[in-house]
Amino acid sequence: AAHSQTLTPPARPTPPVAAATNADKAKVEALLKKMTLEEKIGQMTQLTLGVVADGKPGVEEATLDPAALQKAVQTYGVGSLLNVVNHAVTVDRWGQVITQIQDAAAKTRLKIPVIFGLDGIHGQTYTLDATLFPQNIGMAATRDSALAHAITKVAAAELRASGVRWNFAPVLDCGRQPLWSRFPETYGEDVFIGKTMGSTVIHAYEEDGLRNPTAVASCMKHFIGYAAARTGKDRTPIYLPEIELREYYLPQFRAAVKAGASTVMINSGEINGTPVHASKYLLTQVLRKELGFEGVVVTDWEDIIRLHTRHNVAPTPRAAVAMAINAGIDMSMVPMDYSFPDLLKEAVQKGEVPMSRIDDAVRRILTLKYKLGLFENAYPEAAARANFGKPEYQDLALQAAHEAMTLLKNQDNVLPLKKDTKVLVAGPGAQSISALNGCWSYTWQGKEEQWYPANSKTILQAITDKVGAGNVITTTVKGYDSDANYDTTALKNAAANAAVIVLCLGENAYAESPGNIQDLVLAPNQVALANAAAATGKPVVLVLSEGRPRFITSFEPKMKGILQAYWSGRKSAEAIADVLFGDYNPDGILPYSYPRSMGEMVLYDRKPTEEIREIFNSDMTMDGYKPLFPFGFGLSYTTFSYSPVTLSSTTLKGNDKLRISVTVTNNGSRDGKHTVELYSRDLYASITPNMQRLRGFQKIDLKAGESRTVTFILDKNDLAFVNADLKTVTEPGDFEVMIGGEKAKFSYSL
Ligand code: BGC
Repeated sequence: AAHSQTLTPPARPTPPVAAATNADKAKVEALLKKMTLEEKIGQMTQLTLGVVADGKPGVEEATLDPAALQKAVQTYGVGSLLNVVNHAVTVDRWGQVITQIQDAAAKTRLKIPVIFGLDGIHGQTYTLDATLFPQNIGMAATRDSALAHAITKVAAAELRASGVRWNFAPVLDCGRQPLWSRFPETYGEDVFIGKTMGSTVIHAYEEDGLRNPTAVASCMKHFIGYAAARTGKDRTPIYLPEIELREYYLPQFRAAVKAGASTVMINSGEINGTPVHASKYLLTQVLRKELGFEGVVVTDWEDIIRLHTRHNVAPTPRAAVAMAINAGIDMSMVPMDYSFPDLLKEAVQKGEVPMSRIDDAVRRILTLKYKLGLFENAYPEAAARANFGKPEYQDLALQAAHEAMTLLKNQDNVLPLKKDTKVLVAGPGAQSISALNGCWSYTWQGKEEQWYPANSKTILQAITDKVGAGNVITTTVKGYDSDANYDTTALKNAAANAAVIVLCLGENAYAESPGNIQDLVLAPNQVALANAAAATGKPVVLVLSEGRPRFITSFEPKMKGILQAYWSGRKSAEAIADVLFGDYNPDGILPYSYPRSMGEMVLYDRKPTEEIREIFNSDMTMDGYKPLFPFGFGLSYTTFSYSPVTLSSTTLKGNDKLRISVTVTNNGSRDGKHTVELYSRDLYASITPNMQRLRGFQKIDLKAGESRTVTFILDKNDLAFVNADLKTVTEPGDFEVMIGGEKAKFSYSL
């Protein structure tokens, strides 16, 4: 029997946090009146500090240097600190560090508490034993907004338990350039997924009001265009026509502002020659006026001085400071010296920065501190501490990793494997934990395994735990260096006794610039290993743990099975083993187009071009889209079929809503989750329309044999695009919607 389910867009913010209360506003104004110029500039300054050893093994680096702390907070009155540790420390150590900081703030004339922030990118990076979930790219593969909401609640609770009230997440950059080393931090190539997931996550961080012991202030980052670096390398110049910026990169921020984001961090790069940190157009006109953002604008790392030292648009360091503050920056992540407060003071005294801009920035910062309840209690809270490390977080981490797993190939139903199959578990990924977690995992780069929880499993361990040591063979292939010498003879010998080879390849952890690469082709030694595995004649199942799609085109035909595992966090290995041996029926789908080669980096929401039509040949489809695996692709151990699409009307008028329904049936023999995706296309428009755009997704859970009707509701805003005049418009005309291969047409009129 079919029952109906209607798409409920992620709960809209009951703008809890967003609005500062009138009482807060009055307090902010009263405080502002008492402040000296130095005190105001202090609030606009964010520093990181050194730590001193106190001799306790493992966590010895978690006490702040008292002299450095005194200089920052008492002498300079800095309003914000960040990071301070460079690897995870215990939750109680965090309590001590935050106490030390707020004790220092309490000794200042006006006793303004410090706001402390750091990067909890897929869970609380810097607390030992914190729960790490899939990176955003894996969460996008789950297409499960409710799950994204749930994991964010845990991330927020564990940050807050550590005394941290401000998280530098989520990344809202659109991952349209897979070379980019921060691609795994994105929600992939599609705007709608970025909008939906991003605003869900922001809402989850902040929804209960920032005074709730499980809430933290979020930070939209990095405004804007960071992901579009032309070379694909981190922080390199961006050339981006405004029509593209508005169509693909801005909507995620617009949605996030509506969801109540308290803060935003700025892109370190430059767009069309203008560093974003110096762009009054982007920071004030677009962000403040157009998007209506009222929160705090913070720079990224050292980005003000770089207007002088890197971008060469400010002839002196002071000019750089004036340029950034006048453009709309409220807080400077300096963060290593005292140049900023000194230079800003000079700039104000010389009339280069108006007092009104300083007051505006400080007002926003103080408002955030009031909203967070820092004036009432800035110290670590017992109620929040009690929310650290609850056992159910591990279940959620496993669920998230399960739902991320994306099965890309299953030739001859090689999977699921039987549990008494003799399996050779090989490749550099077999015995790595960092390669399952990626960036921002207990350290910035995520590579140092000594900081991971002791019970973290490798793929080899998870498989051994599942099927018993007697069924598992391995060869030690360690290390991801491209010059690591993998012993293919040992692999061949080990394979002799195995029925199947599980080959674990991909990328070890990296973050930001250290993750820059020259080429997306998988490292040659890994390619050689894949060829050697195939040459044994045994079926090979490839498990990819990677932050971005690395090309596997040359050996893909020789692989029987391919599982994309992304960097799925603390329960990655268990989730991989569950899928391989059939204890979990995979349901992840690609949040990006898995490219074949550099020459075919075409995205799913492409536009048709004349060249491609003319140079049509057997290697190219008419519209130029022929990735190795398309956007939205992912296999299951069961099969789903779709009824024809029905529409509530074939004409949509004005602000009316259109109901689009389809009945999905699980006609295989296993229960399974499944994502239903709705795409639309504009048949004719004033500028060339996209071939397709994702307009909705819904994840359903169907028992074998079960059917369900899924309904999406669209209105004209869902069909809009940015036109040649840079206006977001919906033009009257004919449209087509596509769901799972089924199509229907309707027309829109004003
Ligand atoms: C990154 C930001 C991060 C900041 C603070 C920068 O290098 O670009 O994403 O929030 O460091 O750690």
